Amino acid sequence: MTLLDVRTPAAALYERVRKVIPPIEWPAFEADIEAILRLKRERGAIVLAHNYQSPEIFHCVADVVGDSLALAREAAKGDAPVIVMAGVHFMAETAKLLNPSKTVLIPDPEAGCSLAESITPEDVALLRQAYPGAPVVTYVNTSAAVKAASDICCTSANALKVVESLGVPRVVMTPDEFLARNVAAQTKVEIIAWRGRCEVHEQFTAADIRELRESYPGAVVLAHPECPPEVVAEADFAGSTADMIGYVGKNRPARVALVTECSMSDNVSVQYPDIEFVRPCALCPHMKRITLGKIRRALETMRGEVTIDPAVAAPARRAVERMLAL
Ligand code: SF4
Repeated sequence: MTLLDVRTPAAALYERVRKVIPPIEWPAFEADIEAILRLKRERGAIVLAHNYQSPEIFHCVADVVGDSLALAREAAKGDAPVIVMAGVHFMAETAKLLNPSKTVLIPDPEAGCSLAESITPEDVALLRQAYPGAPVVTYVNTSAAVKAASDICCTSANALKVVESLGVPRVVMTPDEFLARNVAAQTKVEIIAWRGRCEVHEQFTAADIRELRESYPGAVVLAHPECPPEVVAEADFAGSTADMIGYVGKNRPARVALVTECSMSDNVSVQYPDIEFVRPCALCPHMKRITLGKIRRALETMRGEVTIDPAVAAPARRAVERMLAL
């Protein structure tokens, strides 16, 4: 039995995601996909989707996919006046920082992040008092206000490079404790870490990785650097979501485990049907607040616009652009 109406453009898109969305689930998505495709044309809008978004968003309505920084940078290249961020709030803020003249919508303003919520600008000021002279390197997974209080931003892909570019013996790294400790293991620069954690990646343990290797012999294990250092130590490779995708494309392991958010494996597996993806699964509840229905409503109503106080935007943009200049 087929549940598809193959006459619709959305139905044609099903071919892309057939492997990761069961036929019985697909009809629930079709009407929203059709509406979003139409609304994007009417509004001159593009949808940016993070690597952790569900496959029906990632593969069926997104115009640009990637990590948060790649999304913001790609959006800045185009001339679409409206950007819908299928990601969490700090990502929408970063997109707005780099696209100040465009309308940036977040389909659910409550889509937060445990890292972004772990630190405030006042905390950064206290760190500066405690460690005078040490520059503050801030992960992009933070609010614009925290970026504005920092010297330079970093991503999980370039954190080591950013730290070493400063040419100082000591830096403060916020807010991700594990990213900071994973960087500290690779550099002589002294790293002062904040105690923020990603609630998804902190769940993984070294024992999980050992069990995974026993259950799936030969699996190549790729871990995100937001995981605890002992997990990274057990992995074959550690890198950002973009680095992991790059590793899979280049090395084509027969069997691979991506130690990160659940949807990433679904999304990447669509591109590499010959590779077996083991799924050590941890869901990000914040990312999963974004649904097709909410993207559709954002485009219908143009509600959920992200704005940033100009007094905050200017220094926050400086911190991001200083990183980009590297
Ligand atoms: S996966 Fe972690 S870092 Fe990413 S949005 Fe969710 S809580 Fe934040």
